[in-house]
Amino acid sequence: MDRKINFLDTSLRSNYKKHITNKNFDVLIIGGGITGAGICLDAASRGLSVCLIEMNDFASGTSSKSTKLIHGGLRYLEQFKFRLVHETGSERAILHNLAPHIVKPEKMLLPIVKNGKLNKFSTRAALLVYDYLANVKGKDRNKILTKSQILNKEPLLKNNNLLGGAVYSEYRTDDSRLTIDLIKKSIDYGACPINYIKGEEFTYCGKGSINGIKCSDQLSDNLININSKVIINASGSWTDEVLKGRSKKLVLSKGIHIVVSRKKFNINQSLYFDAIDSRMIFAIPRGDTVYIGTTDTKFEHGKDKLHVLESEVEYLIESVKNTFSISMDKKDIISSWVGLRPLVKDGNKKVTEISRKDEIFISEKGLITIAGGKLTGYRKMAQRAVDFAIRSLKIRKIKSKTKSINLFTYDEDFCRKKFYDNGISDKKFKRLYNIYGDGCLKILEIYNQEKISDNFIIAEYLYVRRNEMCHTLLDFFTQRNSGVYFEIDQIKRYVKILENYIRKNNSVSKDKWEKEKLSLQQYISKLTTFI
Ligand code: FAD
Repeated sequence: MDRKINFLDTSLRSNYKKHITNKNFDVLIIGGGITGAGICLDAASRGLSVCLIEMNDFASGTSSKSTKLIHGGLRYLEQFKFRLVHETGSERAILHNLAPHIVKPEKMLLPIVKNGKLNKFSTRAALLVYDYLANVKGKDRNKILTKSQILNKEPLLKNNNLLGGAVYSEYRTDDSRLTIDLIKKSIDYGACPINYIKGEEFTYCGKGSINGIKCSDQLSDNLININSKVIINASGSWTDEVLKGRSKKLVLSKGIHIVVSRKKFNINQSLYFDAIDSRMIFAIPRGDTVYIGTTDTKFEHGKDKLHVLESEVEYLIESVKNTFSISMDKKDIISSWVGLRPLVKDGNKKVTEISRKDEIFISEKGLITIAGGKLTGYRKMAQRAVDFAIRSLKIRKIKSKTKSINLFTYDEDFCRKKFYDNGISDKKFKRLYNIYGDGCLKILEIYNQEKISDNFIIAEYLYVRRNEMCHTLLDFFTQRNSGVYFEIDQIKRYVKILENYIRKNNSVSKDKWEKEKLSLQQYISKLTTFI
């Protein structure tokens, strides 16, 4: 790609589309979730010419609706999935090195209760195996705690059933930011990712194999053709729709999370605890909120029927009340999200029993489909998918390089100093750094250039429009900064500030702005309406 032009700038979309339609790519990827984004960076950094199409916003599918953990999956030990635990467990430290601003170590507290899923013996055994398989060393190894030690750490735990506990190491992340950071990095290697382009129909060469895809532009209704020697289908829970075959490859499992204020549920750290059935769930503090999840139930409806149900909310609330000495009910929920796990079908197994491992299928016409897997394993999944693509291209094997491709240039101390030198508070710096990593430096530049006083939200909004292909207000407050989930009480104020700026500068037409505001409002009301 011509590196002098910043195609991540939304105002250059029509030039960018022309650029894409004039090329014949080595690899085209359908789907801009974590799987597609990982493949895009892996393929581009191996020197292949790559295009990625996403029918909505990047990361708007499952890759913004997870529990946001980069984890080895303690619960997969139950299913004896040792290879999966080893692979995902080992990936955690690698991803932390590549993106320390967004993959951060997190101590997880695990209470052991009478008649719980794990007893003292099984906890100790499981965590020992877990640490061994996931290569956990030194002070990060798990520790078993007495009842008084765990109560000391987490006084809100109910005392009567508690036997003791454990603390073990996980990593937390921000799923949609990780996806977007990968997309942005792939552009440094010449890739051409684009959002709001839907793959509709494959095109075929004389010999019958796939050589491109007809697409529709979701922002203008235009149709475009993109040519590519190889196509990889990384469309997550849409896999069967893209394959259009009669036999389905996937089973979808629904998972919800609810968000409450930290004032309501003031835990000191993340916890993994027994739900009211035989499952375990997480409670994870983030900013002034705590999110709780998840559920795991088979989903057999159309995706337009994907809502949070009252019964699911009640299940999570009852599980919290069962373990902690607090009161909580539906009116305490300030936000929520719901996602679908794309699981590869395995006979008649229940969704809770199906392995989270990924699989690759190749169709007769040469379409490569990668399905299943987890956020945590995205890098390895990408490696495998690109190895297949290279075989299909019949070119010399080039090794994956992503183990050493950092997703940042400037570290936290460097960025903090820049904010400090500009007289900006550490609180404001931290908020921006935690979301955008070293992207906060560009936000600071815009803030200074535009002489914006008081609030960074305008600079942040301009930054994502110019540097992250962010087309709508809703995409800004969801995939870009997760405001609707973790800063819901600030959104009205933020929108007001943005509206004043946009009116003054005539930068978005009134009609478009009103439409964007409406779809944001509708989305927000869905987050607290349970059916
Ligand atoms: P998606 O993110 O859904 O991306 C697929 C994309 O393809 C979508 O954006 C879609 O719009 C696009 N698309 C579809 N059809 C087309 C088309 N025709 N043209 C163009 N684009 C198209 N994993 C972890 O490692 N840690 C966790 O803590 C964790 N928690 C989870 C909790 C829940 C509740 C759920 C549901 C999953 C969780 N996972 C977790 C799993 C993880 O989130 C998923 O495995 C991962 O996000 C799937 O990514 P994906 O890119 O395959 O799918």
